[in-house]
Amino acid sequence: MSTSFSRRSVLASSLVVATTGLTAKAAAQDLQTSQPNRSSDVAPKEADFVYSYRRTQAQWREQLSGIEYVILREGETEPKKFSPLWEEMREGTYRCKGCDLLIYTSDYKVKLNKGWTFFRQSEPDSVLMGIDLVTEYGGKEKNGSAIEVHCRRCGSHFGHMLYIKREILHCINGTSLSFQAA
Ligand SMILES: [Zn+2]
Repeated sequence: MSTSFSRRSVLASSLVVATTGLTAKAAAQDLQTSQPNRSSDVAPKEADFVYSYRRTQAQWREQLSGIEYVILREGETEPKKFSPLWEEMREGTYRCKGCDLLIYTSDYKVKLNKGWTFFRQSEPDSVLMGIDLVTEYGGKEKNGSAIEVHCRRCGSHFGHMLYIKREILHCINGTSLSFQAA
């Protein structure tokens, strides 16, 4: 995924918030033309959605390692079995490496021999979803779209929702999380 794709995903998630608050101008234009809304007319600017935990690009680069930065802030995917969290099954908590928000607990962990970190669900009010364009995932070409999972507080990218073995699971880059054993 390129930077532009992760940018799109942030926009998509912002749109969920923004669709209930269409600007008067956009609504007026819509009435004038009597045509259905086109999303390109009303899509919010990225700056319209303000995460409560914000850092400049320079601050993010200082806080995160190189690979953490490209995964959390640019939407990249870690290599298979790159993070040891894929096989971590001890009791404990998983927090966003960007802002330390509690995202998952071991109660929801699923161990799959696929090389990424899987959970059945997240903690309440911890993540937001967006639409992401996926051209490559797990080494396989899969042109299409996927539901992207990112932090509700700082917007950092975690991974995607995937349908695996008749379950919808959070397929997460372990690199994006900090694990603390109970
Ligand atoms: Zn965060």
